[in-house]
Amino acid sequence: MSGAIGPGSEGMNLEHIKTCVRCGLRYDWRRSSSDSLKMTYCSHLCEAADLGFTLEALLHARPLTSTEAEASEPETAAI
Ligand SMILES: [Zn+2]
Repeated sequence: MSGAIGPGSEGMNLEHIKTCVRCGLRYDWRRSSSDSLKMTYCSHLCEAADLGFTLEALLHARPLTSTEAEASEPETAAI
């Protein structure tokens, strides 16, 4: 029993092969276009589709300012 994977695996380091948690595709994580979750998603498309956003977008997003928060509240005090 050799345990060899077989021809075709040469030059392909299995340590770098990950399975996308969204689409199940096996990919080389170093080539993933996902910015922050290369080890989890095959591409930023799967990352965005699964999370509804990308971590990059989240990191760059800014919290609402107090004015924007107030504006979103119903005018309960108005009579
Ligand atoms: Zn994917």
